[in-house]
Amino acid sequence: MARHLQVYTHDGLRVTFEPARCIHAATCVRHLPAVFDAQARPWIRPDAATPEEIIAIVQRCPSGALKAELDGTPHDLTRADVEVAVERHGPLVVRGPVTLVDEATGATVVEDRRMVLCRCGQSAKKPFCDGAHRRVHFRDPA
Ligand code: SF4
Repeated sequence: MARHLQVYTHDGLRVTFEPARCIHAATCVRHLPAVFDAQARPWIRPDAATPEEIIAIVQRCPSGALKAELDGTPHDLTRADVEVAVERHGPLVVRGPVTLVDEATGATVVEDRRMVLCRCGQSAKKPFCDGAHRRVHFRDPA
């Protein structure tokens, strides 16, 4: 899978955004709208808050679509264990160091510490969630 990254830099801060991974949970735009504004172009302004404020929000991005480096040092979740949570009426939420592999080819799709995977089967960005479960009103059995 070709990975398309948008890159935004300011001083030593480097923020990347991978559109195919975003689940539109809006954590970033709700909590730091001066930096993350989906209506603006560019939609990420890494000069509009301190690096620490931006990194704190990037680490809350549930999907891993956002990443941040400061002076070349990545700032991401550091947990060593792996947790896979089944979100009620929603996707699989993966936390911890994981390698996602294409079973057919054996190729690595992504190595990451955060990812949200489609469970409803309707995502246009499979294997990643794109929020389609909300659109199709996906429901777990009672
Ligand atoms: S998934 Fe990440 S990048 Fe997408 S809206 Fe949520 S916090 Fe922002």
